[in-house]
Amino acid sequence: MVSASEFAWMAVRISRKISGNKPHKRISSEVFGHEEGEFSMFFHNKIRFVLLSAALLFAGLLLIAPATAIAQAPPEPVPPVDGIKVAPALSPETFPTTSEIPTDISSQFALDRNSDGVSEGMAIGKVRSDLDDVYYLTDGNYQTLAILHSYGQGIILVDAPEPLPFSNPSPDPNFNVPPYDIVTVLEDKFPGVPVTHMIYSHGHTDHIGGAKKIKDRWPSAKIISHILTRKLLKKINDPRRPAPRLRNTFLNKRTLRIGGQKIELHYFGNIHQAGNTYIYLPRKKVLMVVDVVYPGWVPFRRLALSENIRGWLKGHDTILKFDFKTLVPGHLTILGDDEAPSGISAKQHVIWAKQYNDEIAAAINAGYRDISTLFEGVGVVGGVLGNPFATAAKWALFSAFYDASTQRCVEALKNSTSDWKGKLAGEETFNFSNCEAYFVAARLGDVEVPPAP
Ligand SMILES: [Zn+2]
Repeated sequence: MVSASEFAWMAVRISRKISGNKPHKRISSEVFGHEEGEFSMFFHNKIRFVLLSAALLFAGLLLIAPATAIAQAPPEPVPPVDGIKVAPALSPETFPTTSEIPTDISSQFALDRNSDGVSEGMAIGKVRSDLDDVYYLTDGNYQTLAILHSYGQGIILVDAPEPLPFSNPSPDPNFNVPPYDIVTVLEDKFPGVPVTHMIYSHGHTDHIGGAKKIKDRWPSAKIISHILTRKLLKKINDPRRPAPRLRNTFLNKRTLRIGGQKIELHYFGNIHQAGNTYIYLPRKKVLMVVDVVYPGWVPFRRLALSENIRGWLKGHDTILKFDFKTLVPGHLTILGDDEAPSGISAKQHVIWAKQYNDEIAAAINAGYRDISTLFEGVGVVGGVLGNPFATAAKWALFSAFYDASTQRCVEALKNSTSDWKGKLAGEETFNFSNCEAYFVAARLGDVEVPPAP
């Protein structure tokens, strides 16, 4: 809303434009004096300026008064004024929140922190006790894989997350410590061992935004990625994420044999972002797939922010087709590990993740053809704007309809007989956005919806 003083200023500016009496001209003539003709012109302009300003100010006040009155009376139906309806802002209390702070902290730790948890902070270690040459690096939020080759002479790195301000190795609440720096961590753990190769799991900056630091420290490190990841990085041209050479890319499958290590790179389509790669060590039975499964946690909001929900769901099944004992998911505190003290196998985490997704799908599908959520939306908008205008506020209506449908899914998950405690954490926080992502995918036809009766 334009305030009275702003309106007055606008009126002054408009009147000056009409009179052609620009302020700097006026000041200069006042300061330097005038010939007689000029002076009378100046005087004449000044009278016109004052009269016009007063007239515009009066007109402005007449306009502002009713507009202010309308804005302050929200629940009443707003009558159309010359065909224009003025919609007051919707009340935020009428809408559910999109994410929730957990009410019970124990719901945030799916597994015993001292058993299966890799680390809540900075850590580096073997992915499995029987493997001496495959390490994970983590800051408690991201995971990187470091594979030693040629009997410890070089490192093949998978991903290089960008340092984050909260990814520090000490629990200093003021963050007065350097952020997680992947180069320092590698040099501390493997002194004198260079990174010779760097594989990208996909192109997102949170996972490979530290790649330039690796290249700066070890300039001969060869970058390897899927061809679509290269294409994306070439287009974006972000200095933090250097693109690989064309000859170091692949299409469907590429097997790397480097210093005694065999690493398979597979592409089975977009399961999160075009080019996302399954990195598989067949002899070690280690699989790294990023941003699909989060062992011990529900997926990140909006189903892991995936570009392609159908592909992302299918990705879970593809993971289960691999023969693996360790799953490196790229995020958070836990690896999928067949030797985990909890006895929860790597594949069990994938199966639980699939069950959670299936519950969302079932909840959305159950209400998909029930248009009462649309009427709920009309009710919410009508309750604020007045019923005659509920359908005119198009975005508000769509938003309320989507929220009502999503909220129904959230309620279904709350009443589900599945007990995710000890299996998946963070449900309260992300149920809403995960439900919404699935609902949107259903609306757009990216996932199958129940047939019409
Ligand atoms: Zn990603």
